[in-house]
Amino acid sequence: MDPAKRQERIDLFTQHCAARGLPLTVQRRAVLEAILDLDTHPTADQVHLCVTGRMPEINRATVYRSLETLVGMGIITKACHPGRVVRYDPRTDPHHHLICLHCNYVLDVEDRRLTELPLPKIDTGSFTVTEHRVQLRGICQKCREAEAIG
Ligand SMILES: [Zn+2]
Ligand SMILES: [Zn+2]
Repeated sequence: MDPAKRQERIDLFTQHCAARGLPLTVQRRAVLEAILDLDTHPTADQVHLCVTGRMPEINRATVYRSLETLVGMGIITKACHPGRVVRYDPRTDPHHHLICLHCNYVLDVEDRRLTELPLPKIDTGSFTVTEHRVQLRGICQKCREAEAIG
């Protein structure tokens, strides 16, 4: 993530905290910075590992709680979970994902044609569809190369 965008997200977080009277804890800020720096749709454990580089004393539960708080504030989103665990996404704007079926690698993909897909007129009963996210699934380059070698 480029430095200007990164700072923008941190400022947004600071404003949200102030507006809601939430304490701007160093832990929450460290968790946000980790997810912005990782840029890999990390799992909570990956975020934890990254944060412990700077704050060795931070525990897993605090990282989990901070991630959920950031999701609740609309600063980050929960992405798809290609594996068994939730992946967090520092982006909140509409975008789509390429997902590797072998290693669960998640990559952002921008494509206007995907974003402009009309929502199908399906009977969802009491469920209101507000947006759509497309997952394009396949095999990433790394896995393809590993397969070719193996
Ligand atoms: Zn892969
Ligand atoms: Zn994403």
